[in-house]
Amino acid sequence: MSVTLDGFPASEGIAWGRVRRIPWGVPSVPHEVVDAGRVDHEVARFSEAREAARERLLELKARTEARLGPVEARIFDPQILMLDDETVVRGTEGYIRDTRLTAARAFEWRMLELKAQWTRTANPMVLDRLNDLEDLQVRVLRHLLGQHDPLDLSDTSGDVVVVAPNLTPSLIAQFDPDQVAALATDQGTRTSHWAILARSQGIPAVVGLGDVCRKAADGQEVIVDGRIGRVVLDPDERDWRVFEERRTRIRLLEEEVEEVARLESVTADGQPVALRANLDLPVEADNARRHGAAGIGLFRTEFLVVGRNAMPGEEEQFQAYRRVAEAFDGDAVYIRLFDLGGDKFPSFLHMPPQENPFLGWRAVRVLLDEPELFRVQLRAILRATVFGDVRIMVPLVNDVEEVQRVRALLEEEEDGLRRDGIPFNRGYKLGVMVETPAAALDAAELARHADFFSIGTNDLVQYTLAVDRTNARLARLFNPFHPSVVRQLHSVARVARAAGIEVSVCGEMAATSLGAFLCLGLDITALSVAWPALPELKKVVRDVRIEDARRAARRALAAATARDVMEALAESIGDAVDLSAYVGRWNLSLRS
Ligand code: PEP
Ligand code: MG
Repeated sequence: MSVTLDGFPASEGIAWGRVRRIPWGVPSVPHEVVDAGRVDHEVARFSEAREAARERLLELKARTEARLGPVEARIFDPQILMLDDETVVRGTEGYIRDTRLTAARAFEWRMLELKAQWTRTANPMVLDRLNDLEDLQVRVLRHLLGQHDPLDLSDTSGDVVVVAPNLTPSLIAQFDPDQVAALATDQGTRTSHWAILARSQGIPAVVGLGDVCRKAADGQEVIVDGRIGRVVLDPDERDWRVFEERRTRIRLLEEEVEEVARLESVTADGQPVALRANLDLPVEADNARRHGAAGIGLFRTEFLVVGRNAMPGEEEQFQAYRRVAEAFDGDAVYIRLFDLGGDKFPSFLHMPPQENPFLGWRAVRVLLDEPELFRVQLRAILRATVFGDVRIMVPLVNDVEEVQRVRALLEEEEDGLRRDGIPFNRGYKLGVMVETPAAALDAAELARHADFFSIGTNDLVQYTLAVDRTNARLARLFNPFHPSVVRQLHSVARVARAAGIEVSVCGEMAATSLGAFLCLGLDITALSVAWPALPELKKVVRDVRIEDARRAARRALAAATARDVMEALAESIGDAVDLSAYVGRWNLSLRS
């Protein structure tokens, strides 16, 4: 019998293959001590092993740079930096000298200590770094123990689906994309460094599956649907049929990408809809364009800081923003100020572990507490306003005062640019992300101070329902169709209309057909989604009538449960739309 597992979509695409479990793990190290005379020798061996790891990582970095570009290649920097980290090097050498442990055992002890310190936080970005630390640990230990890299896929005929507890950037860089059809892991998040690399290379991936390693056996057939975050082991006839249908659909869409990109984004009854893209990296801008994005609705700028040991300089930031602004000349590009903390953690801020990082020092709170660090970003964005319709978006706003303080900082930076004779466009817009119930409830007040609203439903759902967005166990409870969320969307949209400012949705729900239909029904006619979802979304938009969407939204607003909301929408959206994703995750029952 087939086994279906639901996790999180981390890299779009659908594929099948045979399971190959990756035996990548920390090797066991025998407990050994050496004679006093061999201590220096062990210290030297440790140094050699670090050197070997560095060479290999630099080689993988160069390979990644050649394949994907310099930004992606920087993903290796944290590990390379860690090789020389005082706490790693001095700590290990101390154990060798003080307790005469072998280099391998001393290094293992030190790593265990560091991991224990880091694990005390629930912050996913720290956990991603933990993942980097483990990768480094395996690499150095294997060298010290004289073990070879176990990652040899040469005996396979391609179509390998790699199944692992978690992966690392350096493992992804070693895979040959022609051989590896897809990836499925127990842990990991969409923001894991390796998941970003998988996306860039077009390898489908599902993360957070919980126990796929335990349930899968080597050689078993498996389907991986990276669009909806589903894995099917030992697929039966029905699973294969669904797979073929979905694959054909995705292929057709891929073939039609350019054609669909040229089509007007307008509902069947003539309502124009602005479909923009969310960007995680500037290199994705070209793909976003090819997929028909009418601008960038959310440019996440954290790629500039995560994994770096210092804030990037103004020129580097300016070039990144300018590049995207120019790629979308004439179309709006919404650049979000750094959303640090929560699940995005830069090492140079030395943030102490927080019990509840998503309720902690995050986004605009960090920005206002550390203005000197963020002035550089404000200046770089202001400079980029000359090269396109650049708009500035503030994350996680709770009240008016925060917007006023950001505006004041921007005005000071404007003065500075004027003094230095550096041009910028004074007419840029400053808006807020509505992603907390506080902001949604206080939207009327915020609208007096903001030029636009962008509703971040990923966070709005998390904060409204008290469901951690990164917790795989709670995935079924993370439901953007919950009546409390629908009502907030409705009221924020109404407030924005009354104030005459644009309102858009840039959370993942906008990429789902029912989510987009709901937004249209609430008269939110600007949506921003991950670029691979754009063609399908445009087809949905062109298929539906805004009048039907409004009627469905009225019914959804009167519904008592998330399921009733989804059913109200599903009944009106028409048969052309694929609703299978909702069935498994949120138990939507479809009319036959
Ligand atoms: C959101 O919260 O919906 C959003 C788009 O921002 P992020 O996912 O980066 O937090
Ligand atoms: Mg958010």
